[in-house]
Formats: sequence, C-alpha cells, structure tokens
Amino acid sequence: GHRHIDNATVENLSAAVGEDHHPEIPSYKDLDAYSSDDGYALLRSCLAGERTPESLVEALSHAGLRGLGGAGFPTGKKWEIVRGFPGPRLMTINGDEGEPGTFKDRHYLESDPHRFLEGALIAAWAVGCERCYIYMRDEYPAVLEILRREIAKLEAAGLTKHCPLELRRGAGAYICGEESAMLESIEGKRGLPRHRPPYIAEVGLFGKPTLNQNVETVYWVRDIVEKGAEWFAAEGRNGGKGLRSYSVSGRVKSPGVKLAPAGITVQELIDEFCDGMAEGHAFHAYLPGGASGGILPAAMGDLPLEFGALDKFGCFVGSHAVVILSDKDDVKAAALNLMRFFEEESCGQCTPCRNGTEKAVKLMSEKSWDAPLLEELCHVMRDASICGLGQAAPNPLTSVLKYFPEALK
Ligand code: SF4
Repeated sequence: GHRHIDNATVENLSAAVGEDHHPEIPSYKDLDAYSSDDGYALLRSCLAGERTPESLVEALSHAGLRGLGGAGFPTGKKWEIVRGFPGPRLMTINGDEGEPGTFKDRHYLESDPHRFLEGALIAAWAVGCERCYIYMRDEYPAVLEILRREIAKLEAAGLTKHCPLELRRGAGAYICGEESAMLESIEGKRGLPRHRPPYIAEVGLFGKPTLNQNVETVYWVRDIVEKGAEWFAAEGRNGGKGLRSYSVSGRVKSPGVKLAPAGITVQELIDEFCDGMAEGHAFHAYLPGGASGGILPAAMGDLPLEFGALDKFGCFVGSHAVVILSDKDDVKAAALNLMRFFEEESCGQCTPCRNGTEKAVKLMSEKSWDAPLLEELCHVMRDASICGLGQAAPNPLTSVLKYFPEALK
C-alpha cells in the first residue's frame, strides 16, 4: 500500500516506542579538522561584509554550477531569482536522496559534512534567508547523528546566527524528494506535490519565497569560490561543464561514487572510473538517471551524460545515478520492476499517475506486451500528470519499446 506518514507522526511514534538509533558513525572531518583547513573562513568573510552576494552569484554562474538533485537549474540564477522576491525568505535543503541508485549525497555527508554546511550557510547569507530546514533521509541514521552533533558545535561557535539550521527527518516516501511535496512534509502535512505556478521561489515553505538546494549543490560553493570558477568550469567533456558525482552501480567491477567530468559518456565512465565490467558480464544496457531517467542500449553508450543531452532520446541523467546492466539482465523485467516502484510510490493525487502506473504494471506483467496500448498509456501519463513522478514514470517502458525490439519478441 501507499505510505503517507508525515514527519511529525514519525517523531511521535519513535518517541512512543522509545526507539533510539545507535548507528555506527564513520570517521569524518569534524568541525576542528575542517576549521584547521581554513574551514568557515569564507563564511566569516561574507558575514564580515568583505564579499558581496553578487560576486558569489557571478562566481557560481561562471563556474556553471547547476542543481545536482536532478533538475540541473543554474545555481547562480536561482539565487538571483529568490533574492528578487521580498523577504522574509526561507531556505530548504533536499537531503532525501530517494532516487534509486543515488548515494552521492550520503558519501559527502559521511565524509566532509562541514563543506556542505558551510555552503548552505553561505547560500542563506547570499540570498538573505532567515532560516534553513535540512530535510534528511531517515534511512541515513549516521548522517543524522553527524549533523546533530556538528550543527550543535556550529551554534556554539555562533556561526548560525544569521540563519538557524533546523534538521528534519523524512519518512521514506519517494515523493517527498519532489520539492513542493517536501515543503508540505516539512510543514507537517502529507507529502502531496503542489500545482505550479506559483513556483516555490516565490511562494514556498509556509508561503514564503524559498531557496531549495540539493546537498551536493551547496557542497561545491566553498571550493568554487576559493579555487575559482575556472577550476570547476575547466572540467567537462563533450560539451559538459564542471564536475559531477556519478553514483555508479550494477555490473561494473568497481561501483561507487565517481567524481568525473560532466558530459562523460557511460562507456568512458565504465572504462576509466570503474575498472571495466564485472567478471563474466558484457555491457548490455544502462540507466542514465536512476529509476526515472529511462534505459538505453550499450550501442548508445557514447552519449554525453549531461543535463539536456539525452532529452531527444526520451531519457535524462537527473541525479546522475548510473546503473549498468549486462547480458545476464532482462530489460523487460527491469522496466516492470521500475514501474512497480512508481506504482508503490505514487502519491495517488492524480488519476493519470495513480491509475496509469497500476494499469501499466498489469499490461507489462503479460508475457507479450501490447505496444500500441502501452504507448497510448505513456502518452496520457506524461501529458496529464501533476508532477515529475507521473511524467517520468513511463520513461523506462518507452525506452524498452523504442530501443530493445529484440526483447519484445
Ligand atoms: Fe502524485 Fe503521481 Fe500525480 Fe505526482 S503525478 S501528484 S506522484 S499522483
């Protein structure tokens, strides 16, 4: 069934059963270690008025930093837009990281959390946000514990006075990674996506203009400003600009988080960053962007993995979660599995998505697929769903129909 448990409910339940997490905490760079490496010097210089918000926006725009939660919106531009709306303004951090196959944010939070926290506090300063809500995935108990500890130290050091940080736990709903559903959840309501316009930059959390950023996006702020926009922008291949953290999983020899140039191709990623395919597996297909970014055949392994570059193939790179399938995998079964996931995670608010995913699962469970009927169903879901979940849910299915004709026989 569907899970509609909000944040507050879970907090209450945990309190009621006396639940206590004792996660194993990985060794990470704490406040002392981070500060000894000039950490928070940039934030302090901003707070002291030695820098202007405009100069930061300019650096980020020049570097080509884009929203790394999946949408790829230019970060400098977003800061300008939200700053343009009258205050009070709020900030949110989307740390839900629910896109299947994505684990890069966790990697950074468990190793260098202050690079992220400093970036968030700098963003809040630049945009003039009064408070920042960090919405964190509850399945990351070590991250929650690290953030609790380190935020307390920052408060004691007086570094959050311009923008107090509030840590909020998600409750395992994929849809709460959708930004407007996340805001609903933070407000203590069911995570139902909102209609737009208005966009959350203007009418966001508690009705206030809101800057929403992914964990990794603000993680890069300090390095870009200190090392220079050129340093970041110079990376990139095949027309891409900057660095990207690819979460690579599946049939490669060395899966994991790979910091690689934007625009790298999947074949280059496998060969240069993952030590090739796993023993006994031949590259057959790949998911360029988690569950919702579609499926492409190995023969199309020379396309740039960059925002916008896969649009014309009905696919996208999104949060850069790349899943590699081999000749031992069945793309039809993979597409059905993904559709089941969307059926399970649909918030149920609109008919094309709620009924469409259910109907698609039924049709895809048949031995032979009714391609024209499935195409028609995908068309309706894509055009008439309220949010990205329903609009992107057909991607793996249409990919198989288009690019894997031999699998349909
Ligand atoms: Fe909910 Fe799906 Fe509609 Fe999005 S598309 S609002 S997840 S029912």
